[in-house]
Amino acid sequence: MKEALINELNKIKSRDLYRKLNPISSAPDKFITISGKKYINFSSNNYLGLANHPGMKKAAVSAVEKYGCGGTSSRLVAGTLDLHLELEEKLAKFKNKEAALVYPTGFQTNQGVICSLLAEGDCIIMDKLNHASLWDAAKLSRCRIFVYEHCSQEDLERILKRTKDYRRRLIVTDSVFSMDGDLAPLKGIAELAEKYNAWTMIDEAHAAGVFGENGRGLAEYFGVEDRIDIIMGTLSKAFGSQGGFVCGSKELINFLINKSRSFIYTTALSPVSAACSIEALKIIKDEPERRIRLLDMSKNLRLKLNELGFDTLNSESQIVPLLVGSVKDTLEISSRVNKKGVFVPAIRPPTVPEGKCRLRFSLMSGHTQEDIAQLIDSLK
Ligand SMILES: *Cc1c(COP(=O)(O)O)cnc(C)c1O
Repeated sequence: MKEALINELNKIKSRDLYRKLNPISSAPDKFITISGKKYINFSSNNYLGLANHPGMKKAAVSAVEKYGCGGTSSRLVAGTLDLHLELEEKLAKFKNKEAALVYPTGFQTNQGVICSLLAEGDCIIMDKLNHASLWDAAKLSRCRIFVYEHCSQEDLERILKRTKDYRRRLIVTDSVFSMDGDLAPLKGIAELAEKYNAWTMIDEAHAAGVFGENGRGLAEYFGVEDRIDIIMGTLSKAFGSQGGFVCGSKELINFLINKSRSFIYTTALSPVSAACSIEALKIIKDEPERRIRLLDMSKNLRLKLNELGFDTLNSESQIVPLLVGSVKDTLEISSRVNKKGVFVPAIRPPTVPEGKCRLRFSLMSGHTQEDIAQLIDSLK
């Protein structure tokens, strides 16, 4: 067995695609420590800085004191706490939907929703750049998979026209795309779904807490919350906690409670994560300046990168790619800026297509003009 694995790993290494873990020995903030060296962090999904927020820590400690540390049981057996129901009620309100359900991770949420709604005889219609968790869910569901060109409404319509015979059709898209940082045309997608009588699901992992006047996500930003059937998100990014959630009709949530295997056959979300997520919702509501600042800084970074002639694709969010191309060049730039104290990952296949390697900056609301200047300096 070892030999087979070594062979395969060597192949990965020969293509410069080998990955290893970088243990961080500090809190997940703007500055992080790796192997004793301090870096400015442009790689975190802790967009609003909530993962290390004093109020969040307090919520975590109180939850541990009252409920202990573990989820201890499946939600359907003895794992549902009043805390879970409070969180679900607040999430439904937050997303302007009838009901919500939380899962231990966003990955499991996508799997649970898609695999319980779709089976053989159904089809899923996916944006080409959808997140890996959506692809895996689609494959596991055994439904037919159709793919439209990234953000192309024409291509989506072409597929809708020729899939009328399927029992169920679900259009699924990231709302903010995780590697390009661009925005799905949710209005156009909602219109097409209505015209062709298809269901819609969006993944707000990178938008919840960040976009929209109230931070509810890209569906709020584009004014289409009531036109999207299923809205999912993660508690692990802007929320600074851990877990995933899905919002929709009461019927959808009852259906998932009964049918969704990644909800039923796993231990409940830990009380700490539930309590922190409740606190995060409060902070998102009370402190809009965090998301405003985050998007301002992102715009600023894009402008500065474009001035230097760098391609930031169609990013309009806190995720700012710097397109490089080859694996070698990307690793080279990443290692150079690293030496200057800037931590940013080199994104390579299979996360992005061949030839589309990039640095991917993610901003946090705590980043300042000086931090951006240091980053730009490291790239010169
Ligand atoms: C991170 C991410 C997920 C998975 O969420 P986790 O809570 O980290 O499991 C799902 N979809 C998208 C688009 C993501 O970026």
